[in-house]
Amino acid sequence: MADSSEDIVLHVDEQDLPVRLTTHARARRISLRLDPVKGCVLLVRPRRVSKAAAVAFAIEKADWIAKSLEELLPPIPFVDGAVVPILNELHTIRHAPEARRGVWKEDGSLFISGDVAHLPRRVRDWLREEARRKISPVAHTLAERIGKAVTNIAVRDTRSRWGSCSADGRLSFSWRLVMTPTFVLHYVIAHEVAHLNELNHSKRFWQAVDSLTYERHAATQWLKHEGAELYRYGLGV
Ligand SMILES: [Zn+2]
Repeated sequence: MADSSEDIVLHVDEQDLPVRLTTHARARRISLRLDPVKGCVLLVRPRRVSKAAAVAFAIEKADWIAKSLEELLPPIPFVDGAVVPILNELHTIRHAPEARRGVWKEDGSLFISGDVAHLPRRVRDWLREEARRKISPVAHTLAERIGKAVTNIAVRDTRSRWGSCSADGRLSFSWRLVMTPTFVLHYVIAHEVAHLNELNHSKRFWQAVDSLTYERHAATQWLKHEGAELYRYGLGV
């Protein structure tokens, strides 16, 4: 667990290098790493090491930081005109300030009424609800096929995994899955539903997954190669 973090900018050889300085109670030494999910370079320091010492360490590694920042993909904030994938289709966010219809999807656009200040949050809330609307019926149907019941479905902003399943039948999913193609979403649901029978990744578990979905391999490859991209969306506002 990170104790605290702050965004700082290092000035090295006329370059500005943003890094996120994080204090970690259990860190043993100062370290630098690229975090594609958070979209930043993390500079981690143990609590006993001063901020100045951590910054000095990072400045020594300025070349590595500059190269890593280039590898990061820029964030895609939810603003008017931004293009967001929703299942298999790209949609353009359109601000409709005069409309009194909330948020609605129509002909490749996602319209958002109301004050522009609320637009990013409303897009996000709508996507989260859309994720729930898509996931819930599929999860219940697949669970029924293996004779199990889903007790609850939570849709969250999970950062480390796409879904999870608890021993008492509660499933949890990342709202960002609504931005994946349908076969990927279907696979993640099948994966978590299969955990209702097997809370492990045994051979029996994978057989259960394959009995519920056809495209496991394509979906895992997609998540491996494209998954981190999804963390770009909704950042930077
Ligand atoms: Zn699993």
